[in-house]
Amino acid sequence: MGRRPLILNRQRLAICLAFLWLLSLAACAQSAASMDHRAGQGRKETPAAVSPTEQPTEQPSDRTPTPTLTPFVPDPFTPTPTASPTAQPTPSPTPIPLARFETDALHQGVLPVSYIQDECLYLEARWNPDNAAPGTVVVPVMFHGISVAGPRGNDNITVSTAYFEASMRKARQLGFETISMQQLVDFLQHNAYIPPRSLLLIIDDRRLGTVREHFLPVLKKYDWTLTLAYITGVINEQEWNQVRDVLARGHTEVQAHGYLHNGETYITEWTSEEIIRNELFAPITAIKEHLGYRPIAFIWPGGNFNLLSVQIAREADYQVGFTVFARGPLLFNWIPQGEAEREIGDPLLTLPRYWSTTMFKNLDYAVEIGASAAAQAEKQRVDEINWYRSNCADYPPLSIPIQSKEEVPDRW
Ligand SMILES: [Zn+2]
Repeated sequence: MGRRPLILNRQRLAICLAFLWLLSLAACAQSAASMDHRAGQGRKETPAAVSPTEQPTEQPSDRTPTPTLTPFVPDPFTPTPTASPTAQPTPSPTPIPLARFETDALHQGVLPVSYIQDECLYLEARWNPDNAAPGTVVVPVMFHGISVAGPRGNDNITVSTAYFEASMRKARQLGFETISMQQLVDFLQHNAYIPPRSLLLIIDDRRLGTVREHFLPVLKKYDWTLTLAYITGVINEQEWNQVRDVLARGHTEVQAHGYLHNGETYITEWTSEEIIRNELFAPITAIKEHLGYRPIAFIWPGGNFNLLSVQIAREADYQVGFTVFARGPLLFNWIPQGEAEREIGDPLLTLPRYWSTTMFKNLDYAVEIGASAAAQAEKQRVDEINWYRSNCADYPPLSIPIQSKEEVPDRW
């Protein structure tokens, strides 16, 4: 501390001398400098691509000491490069933002969105060896009809039996395993372990016949699960019995897909709050009453949602929600979203789903994205663990070694 004023005085002397020397310089030097400064400001103001995924751009701390001064100090009088350590205390208070997984395998306009703001929490869940491995992907798929003859006329939501069976076989061959809705929630929120290639099968509306005829044989054969996004306000006691009968056979669960789900209740900008509330809250009561548990997922009827409805879904305590947008597979803290969902700002309640009609080829994309996310995570592993160790002192220590097993030399 005692040496500091001395250095500052020297520095001041140097600056004064430099300043005197500078006075003799032509005025153009100054105007050039001010132009430089403006150009610098201009660069700084350039918005860095508006995407909710991006971290607020924090300047690395080593840029803070005034670089503008140096170009004007004439050479003979520059004692100052040595002075910089004083202006630059070693521990850096602003951590360098972590890189996020990026891929060009997503459609144009689709961007990955993160939903965990606390980097320490994220890294702790990401590198906990008991949790899902980085690169674990979930492919949610939306089904409607399955028919032997396949889609007819304008029907673009029905798949043929042959396509359905080929998709299921392919998923199996690629090593996909299905997960339940609760497993998805635990994975997305805490990176809880799920198979590295996970599949979430969802069939919309009231299609018990399709479930019995086409799904149950596959589900039994592979020991897989299926979620029924059921419309709960239009069914009688007899149909509830049928639902219970299907559930009793195992492999299926029911989640909420609106109460009435019709022309009057689709969520648009003209739908009243009262209707929206009923579409979201009434299924909870109905499923509790008839099936004995509380739904945790809301599958937006017709794929329609808006800011108000998503806020009400939060209020109703749904953990996840699904759109009909086919944006890509899900990774931990990484949800591919289009502009419509990004505007809402609640990724977990506006999750994408692939369509059953394109499932076959999209399984390949998901595998590719998972593999490249895993590779990128491995490259970043040491940096991320070091980052955690320097910035997350209040969090539990990571039990993962900084070196992976392969990197540890044999003699160790
Ligand atoms: Zn529907």
